[in-house]
Amino acid sequence: MSRKEALNKLRDVLLIRREALKKALDGDLSMLQSLSQDGGDVMDAAMDTAQDEISSQLVEVESRELTQIEEALNRIREGHYGECEVCEKPIPLARLQAVPYAISCIECARKQEKISPRIMGEHLS
Ligand SMILES: [Zn+2]
Repeated sequence: MSRKEALNKLRDVLLIRREALKKALDGDLSMLQSLSQDGGDVMDAAMDTAQDEISSQLVEVESRELTQIEEALNRIREGHYGECEVCEKPIPLARLQAVPYAISCIECARKQEKISPRIMGEHLS
């Protein structure tokens, strides 16, 4: 698969994820839960504690992720998705596949961690 094809796939992932998060914020966790079964991520942990009711913690995680996804989708529209917003080098696919809404490479994310922890996300691999 070419990088371009991989990025197109990630756009689909982001769109589905955004849909699921919006539903979850409306109180319908079913779509998010079915997505979470595909692989472990930050939502799983939050999901376990949520169960019957949406905890405020979960809402916070979802809102934050939703914002990050919107930012990534903006970058897709502008044609900059997959580039580090700091050093402008291509972000490795492995990182994007782990964190589809990543907008900076690991190196820059680590540097920025000291300034703005928000950019880090939960899973840097
Ligand atoms: Zn960078």
